[in-house]
Amino acid sequence: MKIIYVDMDDTVAECDSILVGKYNMSGYGDNITLACLTPPHTRIKKEVRNILRGYIAEPGFFFNLPVVDGCRQVLLDWHRMGHFIYFVTKPFYPSKTCFIEKLDWVDNYFPWLGRYRVIFLQEKNLLSGDVMIDDRYSFMLGFKGRRILFDLYHRRNGRDYKGVEIATTWEEVKRLVNL
Ligand SMILES: [Mg+2]
Repeated sequence: MKIIYVDMDDTVAECDSILVGKYNMSGYGDNITLACLTPPHTRIKKEVRNILRGYIAEPGFFFNLPVVDGCRQVLLDWHRMGHFIYFVTKPFYPSKTCFIEKLDWVDNYFPWLGRYRVIFLQEKNLLSGDVMIDDRYSFMLGFKGRRILFDLYHRRNGRDYKGVEIATTWEEVKRLVNL
């Protein structure tokens, strides 16, 4: 049986697309794109970054994020096969409700895993296990198992990511991990 760690924001919960939509709908006049938010070097002004951080800190932000297509079925299949799935997420401390909303979100979309499978952790390299799936390359550095870089918004073209396998859909994740 494998131990599988799954990031939340932009791996199972759509986050950046919601931020971009919210900002552009607010009428600031300088529309941003998903490419502007590509880690590790985002290309947005400090003022815009602060506005986005304000959105993230609003109560309800995390609970209302949509679930990424396809992830529920893949994780359910693995769960039924007997593998151990944990969500590992870096908390957004400026949000007073981040912790409880993420737990409620998992209960809502993944009731067969539930909130006890959520680990709040910034240093994900401390974990040991078989597979880690995350949209942030830097968060997976130091993890000894297989690393799947999840590229939901197709933003990784042309960059050299060492030691990871890249997937843009959960069908690709399933095929790569091949349990
Ligand atoms: Mg993430």
